[in-house]
Amino acid sequence: MSDSFEEIATGLAAVAKGLHARGWLLGTSGNLSAVVQREPLQIAMSPSGVDKGELRPEQLLSIDEHARIVGGQGGKPSDESLLHLRIVKERGAGAVLHTHSIWNTILSDLYAADGGIKIEGYEMLKGLQGVRTHQHAEWLPIVENSQDMPALAETIGAMLNEHKVAHGFLLRRHGLYSWGENLAQAKRHIEIIEFLLEAIGRTRNI
Ligand SMILES: [Zn+2]
Repeated sequence: MSDSFEEIATGLAAVAKGLHARGWLLGTSGNLSAVVQREPLQIAMSPSGVDKGELRPEQLLSIDEHARIVGGQGGKPSDESLLHLRIVKERGAGAVLHTHSIWNTILSDLYAADGGIKIEGYEMLKGLQGVRTHQHAEWLPIVENSQDMPALAETIGAMLNEHKVAHGFLLRRHGLYSWGENLAQAKRHIEIIEFLLEAIGRTRNI
């Protein structure tokens, strides 16, 4: 990792502002993280209870692999920090983003009985890393929501092992998680998946 914590925090705050402007992080919802160093693991994590449209770089916290604060100017890391850490470990991700959009919330419930959403035939799929054709079939798993974060992190770890090529997943009636090798790629993945979910939702509506 060549970027300093300050550079990473500045990048996360900028992405938070952009996602908030799109209505995907309303009312302090959602959270963002990026890897600061791998050994020992440290990630920059958004704080709990802060309006993501107003998030300032100095509010980002540095946490270790157990979600304990090791840097930053106080505050409490997001309740979902354990989920971010699990995704970083399972996928080798450099950044993890989590949004609460209207469409991801609706579709995470509508398709919950199927265990996921099959997204196929859209040109926008090519924005996902490694996807070369619109004929790609992306399976977006749906996991039942929970407030028990250690248990939910275990469930997500098992799900990520089962779906090794998934670029994201949904928590039912809760939101979307996606990630990338770096923050730019994670942001691209969130934008692509949010677009595809809205396209599916609006099509069903018509
Ligand atoms: Zn959430």
